[in-house]
Amino acid sequence: MFRRQLLVAIAVLGASGMAADAAEPPPLPVTEIAAGVFVHNGAHEEASAANEDAIANIGFIIGDDAVAVIDPGGSFAEGSALRAAIREHTERPIRYVILTHVHPDHIFGAAAFRDDHPDFIGHAKLPGALAQRGNYYLRRLQGAVGDEASGTEIVPPTVLVADRLDLDLGNRHLILRAHRPAHTDNDLTIFDQKTQTFWLADLLFVDRIPVIDGSLVGWLEQLDELTAMPADRAVPGHGPVSVPWPAGAEPERRYLAAVAQDTRAAIKGGIGIANAYRQVANSERGHWLLFDEYHPRNVTASYKELEWE
Ligand SMILES: [Zn+2]
Repeated sequence: MFRRQLLVAIAVLGASGMAADAAEPPPLPVTEIAAGVFVHNGAHEEASAANEDAIANIGFIIGDDAVAVIDPGGSFAEGSALRAAIREHTERPIRYVILTHVHPDHIFGAAAFRDDHPDFIGHAKLPGALAQRGNYYLRRLQGAVGDEASGTEIVPPTVLVADRLDLDLGNRHLILRAHRPAHTDNDLTIFDQKTQTFWLADLLFVDRIPVIDGSLVGWLEQLDELTAMPADRAVPGHGPVSVPWPAGAEPERRYLAAVAQDTRAAIKGGIGIANAYRQVANSERGHWLLFDEYHPRNVTASYKELEWE
């Protein structure tokens, strides 16, 4: 939608003889959940032309000297609209674009920030994951959203985090941590010391069913560590823009624990991988959006992981 408006704006400006690059997309709606911390609430949908893959919670944090983007969004169009939202609040340089993990709904908007020449920051395993899946994700996005994908490119990280990285935005420190396999094998979290805001990206799903694309056992272990860390609030990758912490992680933990327990029982009971999902974590069905779209593949992934225990 943003892209279409942009094209219309370019056409109008072109006809009147003005520079086409003066056209700015409408700013992405954002909520200031704590002082200087802004989040766009992703749609609880699959990627489509109508939503331009703007389905994840993404945003930015403003320091005295610089801005950090936390996930540039699902397409060039969404990244451009996020950039416009930043410019509504500050003219400070966008020095960092943090790519929380390989999933396209979070990072495919990165090219919209190229002209800012930021550090693109990712987990040490992100380049490998992008090499493996990037082109497939790009084709899938083009298939799902059509022309709305135009301008979208794979932007590899320029700064890698193997363990921890501290960023200074000017009177504001962000602590980035690289995690072991959980949601994916390349998850980063960000902690804003100033407001005690813990940005978990897709290590935390609320309302929308979690997607297991790394390690179920690893994710449950990571949750134990993460929920032991005090914070005033958390930002989930999908769900509300802000939830209390650690209480906000309890539904996810309950779902993942149920999948682990019931999948182990299915394996023990000799139930095949194709049918296991029918008996696994059915008590969770009413609690999650997109349950039927993602639950069977979560069980398949968990079965493959747990059958080697
Ligand atoms: Zn994800």
